[in-house]
Amino acid sequence: MEEVRVRFAPSPTGFLHIGGLRTALYNYLYARKNNGKFILRIEDTDRTRFVDGAIENLVNALKWAGIDYDEGVFFENGEVVEKGEYGPYIQSKRLDIYKKYVDELIEKDMAYYCFCTKERLDHVREEQRIKGQVPKYDGFCRGGSLDEAKKRIANGEDYVVRLKLPRNTNITFEDAVRGKVTINTDEIDDQVLMKSDGFPTYHMAVVVDDHLMGITHVVRGEEWLPSTPKHVFLYEALGWKAPQFVHLPTVLNKDRKKLSKRQGDVSVEDFRQRGYLPEGLDNYLALVGWSPEDGEEIMTLEQMIEKFTFDRVGKSGGIFDKEKLNWVNAHYIKEYSTEEIAKLSAAYMVEANLMTEEEINKKWDWYVLLIETVKESLSVLCEVPEKVKFLFGDLDITEDDAKEELSGEQVPQLIEAFKEQLDTVEEVDLEFANTVMKKIQKATGIKGKQLFMPVRAAISGNVHGPELKNIIYLLGKNELLSRLEKAKNYTKNITE
Ligand code: GLU
Repeated sequence: MEEVRVRFAPSPTGFLHIGGLRTALYNYLYARKNNGKFILRIEDTDRTRFVDGAIENLVNALKWAGIDYDEGVFFENGEVVEKGEYGPYIQSKRLDIYKKYVDELIEKDMAYYCFCTKERLDHVREEQRIKGQVPKYDGFCRGGSLDEAKKRIANGEDYVVRLKLPRNTNITFEDAVRGKVTINTDEIDDQVLMKSDGFPTYHMAVVVDDHLMGITHVVRGEEWLPSTPKHVFLYEALGWKAPQFVHLPTVLNKDRKKLSKRQGDVSVEDFRQRGYLPEGLDNYLALVGWSPEDGEEIMTLEQMIEKFTFDRVGKSGGIFDKEKLNWVNAHYIKEYSTEEIAKLSAAYMVEANLMTEEEINKKWDWYVLLIETVKESLSVLCEVPEKVKFLFGDLDITEDDAKEELSGEQVPQLIEAFKEQLDTVEEVDLEFANTVMKKIQKATGIKGKQLFMPVRAAISGNVHGPELKNIIYLLGKNELLSRLEKAKNYTKNITE
């Protein structure tokens, strides 16, 4: 059997979109499952869209996501490097290769030189629009003589090269997700293959590269499905075998529209910055458009590799559901050690001005316990400050439920008993935190909800939250005393 070779071929136009990460992920899963090779190729032939630093961003995003590849473009010691025997893997370094095949197509009369100016093309399009026709190149240069065209080029005229698609011909191909797809050439433009700047268009470059790089399966977003007949025609024209096409359903938002920047986070970088874990994002993204036969939803990369097949990729768009992503991510947060989560969360604490980096380092054990206290309730790491902020700064009791708890008859007695216990110690240690509630119960005879709820309300301002003994330990003696004092303002004998 032929070795499986797949590729991810992003254009360096900015950050990696999560739809792109999903395409990369499916390629990766398929390659690993079939002991094949996975290649990262950079498609930078559209010079107007090139963004500095985008290659590094792409490579780093894949690295962060744990999606490794075997050949292509890497980023090492601050430099973009290429590895593999089929390079270069950056299209702008392959211009001579494309030119050779464009020339071959011209010689075979499968492509032609076109000298139409932008003004002429605009005019044609405008006329077609008025007539209610689909805008399309009108074939003005299609019948011109090759000798004549070569003379015009020698005279320095600007030109492009267009594909000479046969008229009214059905082009059919098999797609692993869509099945048999047939498109008539009358619905397709005479695609520009080479632009006036000497750069190939995507369509020319993708076919040449996929062929020369030995790609067996082209796994990409379904927005490329309408272009595929042109590619199929090019394979035939050049006498090459076309790869297996696999078009993936678009990643949609809940309104079934394409996920776009306007609605919030779309790049892998956005998700990373908000504190999604790579395992969570990978696992969730795999499920947007694919499901394993056993219906399992929580899967490591290894498990996904084992289960991945194209025949379980859906035809209709995959809905990106943030709540489900959060649910999956929460699972992986629980799987990580508290130390790891603490390390990864530190930046959010600093950013929210709750602690400085020095404070975190100095009070590391305290900080790890702080994280442990809220870890189970986290979906994303950026939620940490919000969840722990009640332990910092002055306590403000705003919740009606908390005020209600503090108005109970027994509360002043509880507060006094707590203060008495605090007076017996120099500092609040774990031993104290673990036993103080029992001691207050003993001293006052108050127990159960009557005991726990008001104490929780008094020191945290809330009736729900993490374990009371952790809160007590984390606040420490002085803060507990000051909060208990403040809580008195809400007790009955004062407010009445
Ligand atoms: N450069 C194209 C993109 O960024 C790749 C499409 C393909 O995989 O053929 O979407």
